[in-house]
Amino acid sequence: MSQIDNYNNNHNTAVKEELKLSDMAEHTRCVVLKVHGHGGFRHRILELGFVRGQEVKVIKNAPLMDPIEYEIMGTHVSLRRSEAANIEVISLEEGAHPDNLYHGTIEEHVAHEIKEKSHIITVALIGNPNCGKTSIFNFVTNLKEKVGNYSGVTVSSKTGQFYHNGYTINIVDLPGTYSITEFSPEEVYVQQYLNKNKPDILLNVVDASNLERNLFLTTQLIDQNPNMLIALNMYDELQHNGSTLNVNQLSQMFGFPIIPTVAKNGQGISNLLNAIINIYENDQQLTKHIHINYGEDVENAIRKIRTQINNLNDPTNCNRFVALRLLEGDKLIEKSINTLPNYKTIITTAQEERKLLEKIFQEDITSIISEIKYGFIRGALSETLNNNSCNNKKQLRYALDVILTNRWLGIPILLLFLWLMFQTTFTLGQYPQHWIECFIEWLGNFTRNTMPKGMLTDMLVDGIISGVGGVLVFLPNILILFLFISLLEDSGYMARAAFIVDKFMHKAGLHGKSFIPYIIGVGCSVPAIMATRILENPKDRILTTITIPFISCSARLPVYVLFIAAFMPSHQGLVLMSIYIIGMLVAFLTSLIINKVAFKNASDQFVMELPPYRIPTLRNTIMHMWDKSVMYLKKMGTLILVASVIIWALGYFPHNNQATPQQQIEQSYIGKIGHAIQPILQPIGFDWRMSVSLCTGLAAKEMVVSTLAVLYNDDTQHVTPLNHKLQQATNENGEKQFTPLKAYCFLLFILLYFPCVAAITAIAKESGKRWALFTIVYTIAVAWIVSFSVYRIALLII
Ligand code: GDP
Ligand code: MG
Repeated sequence: MSQIDNYNNNHNTAVKEELKLSDMAEHTRCVVLKVHGHGGFRHRILELGFVRGQEVKVIKNAPLMDPIEYEIMGTHVSLRRSEAANIEVISLEEGAHPDNLYHGTIEEHVAHEIKEKSHIITVALIGNPNCGKTSIFNFVTNLKEKVGNYSGVTVSSKTGQFYHNGYTINIVDLPGTYSITEFSPEEVYVQQYLNKNKPDILLNVVDASNLERNLFLTTQLIDQNPNMLIALNMYDELQHNGSTLNVNQLSQMFGFPIIPTVAKNGQGISNLLNAIINIYENDQQLTKHIHINYGEDVENAIRKIRTQINNLNDPTNCNRFVALRLLEGDKLIEKSINTLPNYKTIITTAQEERKLLEKIFQEDITSIISEIKYGFIRGALSETLNNNSCNNKKQLRYALDVILTNRWLGIPILLLFLWLMFQTTFTLGQYPQHWIECFIEWLGNFTRNTMPKGMLTDMLVDGIISGVGGVLVFLPNILILFLFISLLEDSGYMARAAFIVDKFMHKAGLHGKSFIPYIIGVGCSVPAIMATRILENPKDRILTTITIPFISCSARLPVYVLFIAAFMPSHQGLVLMSIYIIGMLVAFLTSLIINKVAFKNASDQFVMELPPYRIPTLRNTIMHMWDKSVMYLKKMGTLILVASVIIWALGYFPHNNQATPQQQIEQSYIGKIGHAIQPILQPIGFDWRMSVSLCTGLAAKEMVVSTLAVLYNDDTQHVTPLNHKLQQATNENGEKQFTPLKAYCFLLFILLYFPCVAAITAIAKESGKRWALFTIVYTIAVAWIVSFSVYRIALLII
């Protein structure tokens, strides 16, 4: 308290006239004093060089001229008038400083003025009613404003002034608000105040004993990306309740300093003031910013609206905040952009996006956004707040979260869900799978019997029908898998799963949220790699991206289903799960090592959102599955069809009519390729046909099955199911080619090696070519080493 000098109260005085850059006449010179505003705008202006003390010359400025042209640091830049109005300057012109209080050159005078004026900080108090804003205000200014216990006591704002550590601080006590929308006069007042007066620093006062509700306003302020800090007031009550809060961690998650205070007796207030000055002084640097991730659907909408605004080449208004508020239909923001030429298009886009979201979520936009914000807050608090107060509302949500994210129950429940998912994939999938199998068998035999003998028939039956058919059979399994993933995502359980595994993931240098791309990766690596964008930290993103290939995707499923059914029929679900778990373990180990080697264990705190539970809508689920099946069928009709024919042709030529089919393939082109690379795979016990299938699997993993289907053609002219063919297959010595062990090692190799061309392309796009190249080499090496070790060690034991 000693540092706070009481100063004459400056009640409601008008702020001293500021000189704005936009007011400067053509050919005049001035010096930058302060840049007001925040977010993307501020960032850009600072980047252009408009920092305190920088000289600026006005090149072209006439009334109504927009943009205005300036010279700064030897280059010409043009600023919109609205941008220039946010830059406070001191004139360098003769006669601009008539007060003559200071004797010396203009330069000396300006230097003096910069020093004076730059030591004035405007701070606005903003927070819910009754969180202690007025108490803080009174404490620092030593004024006696009325402290009240009901909302609405502070109707308009009060201004006070005091000194701290050589700075003059103007402090404004704003009316209490729960949010800054436009629903109450207080809210409108606060929003207009922030837009108009642009305080240097927002002091968000938060009631520590009621964090969840108080932080809601904070999440709205975060959207605006201001210079802000949080006074965690009523800290005494939090402690009194027996709760503990990890303030440091929370502060890192929100990206703002958080200072515990007790305004009643002044505890922590001097820390608070020091923090204010600290932020103010670092304000000229470009600081980091955290934003709330609103999830794919809402983020897409925001992006679309932003592009509309960006088309104008006007970065001042392009910040997320404006787009988000337009999406929410905020009339004040709509009014603020009504001078833009494509105003109508922007509003229409916002309306369309809003309608789309409301349809998807079956809720109004305000609820959608609020729920996501509360999800962010709940996520942050679950990790930092140890709430001992027993009067927690016993809502279903809490009850569910208590069970599902329980320290002991969480992981077993998660494993149970995953096991259920894989087991259902088999048991439910086998019926439609069998029908398709029968149909393909019939189609193959029918074609062979009705068409004349010859190359064309061979191509149709052995190339197209067995190749494409062999993969088509697994469509039901893949659909079931996608059904589960979309249910997990839509219900909100996926976020809990991420939460449960967070600690574990952290050990591997990953983020809990990396688990979401991982689970999506069980479907397909490509969308999973794109989903890494939900991670805020570039390091997390790279680590997740390059480990996703080890998360087994659905394209590999046909190979597993085929081999497990043929050689390990007694424990299907368990064997399948073991493969997925081995993939995860390799992903973790990889991440652990790369994190140590390439990133030196750098780590950051980020919030893990806990969105509300929802009953997934039938519409959404069906939409997801439909998309997936169309994608799958397209792949079938194009890539796999063509590849099947090519592989068939490579096996058909050079053709020898006298040879048995086995001999024919062995002396064909593909036989030669297989024999050429087989020595590398010999130590793992793979024959040349398996080697060939691994080559074709580079294009897409489904191709492994198609290739095997073509290569393991038996001597009969009948089309028999592939798993029978594999069970019957023999090697040169007449022994059975596949043992359960060999089959398992083959599956491990399939799991771990080169994902597919599409995934590598996606990695290159998201993380750069070097990481893509690394992934290629690394995955192949790991596949070989793991399969080799398992095979050899098992052989020794058995
Ligand atoms: P405002 O509505 O945000 O301006 O809140 P006020 O400053 O009017 O404070 C509301 C009530 O909370 C008053 O009764 C204060 O005495 C009390 N209060 C303010 N700060 C603290 C604090 O840090 N701890 C406790 N226990 N009470 C506080
Ligand atoms: Mg008050």
